[in-house]
Amino acid sequence: MHLTLTVKVDLERVDEMDLEQKLSEWFEWFHAHPELSYEEYETTAKIKEILKDAGVEILPYSLETGLIAIVRGALEGPVQALRCDIDALPILEESGLSYASLYEGKMHACGHDFHIVAGIGCALLLQSQKESLKGAVKIIFQPAEEASIGAYKILETDVMEDVDCIWGLHADPTRDVGVMGIKEGFVTAAVDRFVITVTGVSCHGAHPDDGVDPIPAGAAMVQALQTIVTRNVNAFHPALLSVTRFQAGNTWNVIPEKAELEGTVRTLEKTDRVLFEKRIREIVSGIAQAYGVKAELTWMPGPPATYNDAEMVDKATEVAKECGLQPVVNECSMGGDDFSFYEEKIPGCYIKVGTGKGQTIHQPGFAIDQRALQKTAQYLKEVIVSNM
Ligand SMILES: [Zn+2]
Ligand SMILES: [Zn+2]
Repeated sequence: MHLTLTVKVDLERVDEMDLEQKLSEWFEWFHAHPELSYEEYETTAKIKEILKDAGVEILPYSLETGLIAIVRGALEGPVQALRCDIDALPILEESGLSYASLYEGKMHACGHDFHIVAGIGCALLLQSQKESLKGAVKIIFQPAEEASIGAYKILETDVMEDVDCIWGLHADPTRDVGVMGIKEGFVTAAVDRFVITVTGVSCHGAHPDDGVDPIPAGAAMVQALQTIVTRNVNAFHPALLSVTRFQAGNTWNVIPEKAELEGTVRTLEKTDRVLFEKRIREIVSGIAQAYGVKAELTWMPGPPATYNDAEMVDKATEVAKECGLQPVVNECSMGGDDFSFYEEKIPGCYIKVGTGKGQTIHQPGFAIDQRALQKTAQYLKEVIVSNM
């Protein structure tokens, strides 16, 4: 009851801007102008322009793209952050939307345009009630989430040093607008990547005895790597390994010199990440020896698993109910999000926001139901205020 009233009052105060209409206009602009990781220059300039026009303070910041806005409350309180990632994907859009991407081969197919606008809306709503706010709220418009490194880069600056906790959101096209997926504990997996280069000796396809064929060795590795999941990892720990690329040779009658395998490992528990790297090394080296090839493993660790703080989850769930939204406990995803880097320093809560059922993220027909824009901006504002 109380919350509904607060929302109404705030909206009246920012009403001159006709917030809903503005959010829609901005959303369509961002959707039409997608930029890839680390290339978010126009996006950054547009966010800056909107926030400056609304009188929102922008903090000094050392990265080339992205920005940090701050709303300072008049009263003492904690420093909270809201993370909104801003980059797009190299996908040719097929949504059929009137405001589809103007840049061929680039698309906001992960809903980060929605995150930007929800973050802007939240900033404006907070700004409109600064006098009654406690502490401060930093809204982080983060570059390069799709490259899994933007959060890490933000953490290398000093802007997060005084932050006590962080909120994050992600568009969820498996749920209707108004449904909020909020779960305690693990919500996304750790993302590690590996490349294995197998080197043999090239020869005529009719005389395999003249060379050393890297293909059977690579194939044996593909098979054996799966046994890490079934034979080495605790059966109660979610974990997976996918070999997603296996390239060798370029014709039918030549045994190639090299085969290259690439893939990803997804885990929740830190100990399993260590276990996978160790077992992959052992399996690759053992099979290489058995097949008489040379093999080299490159292990590229990415973001850890995202883990939602219990108290923050309780607040987010309670506020969703008070705002007339429908909180549901979402399942943990084996996808990743570099939001988890922030959580290595401070508690966080990552909320999956229903944006209307449709094609999944990273698909050319992915689309956001715009009715989610204002609802999400208001909800995030209320969640943050509830935590002051
Ligand atoms: Zn994505
Ligand atoms: Zn995303």
